[in-house]
Amino acid sequence: MSTRNLNVDLYKAALLAKAAECKNDLEGARKDISIETTAETMEHGVRAAEREVAVERMETAYRQLRQVESALSRISRGKYGICLKCEDDVGQKRLDALPWAIFCVQCQEHAERLREGARVLRRAA
Ligand SMILES: [Zn+2]
Repeated sequence: MSTRNLNVDLYKAALLAKAAECKNDLEGARKDISIETTAETMEHGVRAAEREVAVERMETAYRQLRQVESALSRISRGKYGICLKCEDDVGQKRLDALPWAIFCVQCQEHAERLREGARVLRRAA
């Protein structure tokens, strides 16, 4: 199987839609954050918690957007659907579910195990 068999236009449309969604999320979260920074709302603990949620939302949207944009740039370079790590095919099924996937299933699982290991180490320290 090769990336030439992929219907790249379809993924590109999905990625562009996702990018727009992320930008909306970012904008919405940014607005929430700017509301919370006024002096009178900062006095309330609840506002601080809401702000934290908004910051988290912004970070998630930002991370997602970066992944989507990286996928779009790989489409334009003809590298779409190739695992960033082992250069194997990411796989059509996986791309159907996650058009912005950069790793094949094996490398993704490996990356997640590493991240989990780092979390455990942090907690133990
Ligand atoms: Zn891989």
